[in-house]
Amino acid sequence: MKAAVLYSAGDIRVEEKPIPQPKSGEVLIKIHACGVCGTDDALNKGEYPANYPVIIGHEFSGEIIEVGESVTAFKVGDRVTVDPNRTCHKCYFCRSGLEHLCDNLQSMGVHIDGADAEYCVMLESNIYKIGDAISYEEAAFCEPLACAIHGTDLAKIKVGDAVLIIGAGGMGNLITQCVKNSGASTIIVSEPIAKRRDLALSNGATHVVDPLNTNLLTEIKKIRPMGMDVVFEVAGISREQAACPSYTRKGGTIVFFGCSPKDKFIQINPFDINENEQRILGSFNNQFATGRAVDMLVNKKIRVDNLISHRFALDNYLDVFSVFGTKDSVKLMVLMD
Ligand SMILES: [Zn+2]
Ligand SMILES: [Zn+2]
Repeated sequence: MKAAVLYSAGDIRVEEKPIPQPKSGEVLIKIHACGVCGTDDALNKGEYPANYPVIIGHEFSGEIIEVGESVTAFKVGDRVTVDPNRTCHKCYFCRSGLEHLCDNLQSMGVHIDGADAEYCVMLESNIYKIGDAISYEEAAFCEPLACAIHGTDLAKIKVGDAVLIIGAGGMGNLITQCVKNSGASTIIVSEPIAKRRDLALSNGATHVVDPLNTNLLTEIKKIRPMGMDVVFEVAGISREQAACPSYTRKGGTIVFFGCSPKDKFIQINPFDINENEQRILGSFNNQFATGRAVDMLVNKKIRVDNLISHRFALDNYLDVFSVFGTKDSVKLMVLMD
């Protein structure tokens, strides 16, 4: 089969690999679509550690073409998506309901072979049926949407909340829709790229701000003088992360959602955090959210078709990184067919 293999930072090769065989409890999936994630870009830049060599990609959907021994809930022909994280079920975190923080987490496309390939094997326990109501491209959004749902869960959005989202790429647009579905009354989205601001407006933002040509703090003060109830930093920009407490009201919540380089640090004034009782949370991965992500897509509560800006054949995988993060790009999708 063809696969995009990450050998080291900046060294990804599309090459032939043997088709993996499902073991007991596993199925073989013919992959149809795989979304490109910020994590893939960070892996390519060497900003995120991986087990080299590894097939990259983790946001995917496909069709079951073979089931291993003892698989009971799935059959050949099922259209599926997956939670691409294998956990150990043995460590403290797995045994405390925090599987997503498993000490022995094995994430597809990072630690174990991923889905920018024609086939992959997957544990039955990580698979979700998608039915016939959504396309493979839409279903490839289940993993990032599950992460967006998890971030929204952590932020404990209340009906009527005022929320700021910094960054309106694919993930920012998913969070915008999750926050809207949670009942936020005011949703400000800060994004320098005009096309992405328009998308955010069509996905539920009540206000959009161009942070390069206006001062975000000044704009927030006009809309919500006391500051925001919840701020999501989705872009992973140090300057914005450091500014989050100033955007947030007393007692408000800051969620660091965007992926940052491992060696980056920011300065925050602990006096202000203490005095204002602000909460700073990290949101990583997803926790029991893949099933809800499938339901939100199947029931058309979240729209993703308008987020795909570019499609690539697996053969042209390397072109992905010349487009990722550019002005016209939102979500990039690799198609295997
Ligand atoms: Zn991802
Ligand atoms: Zn574990």
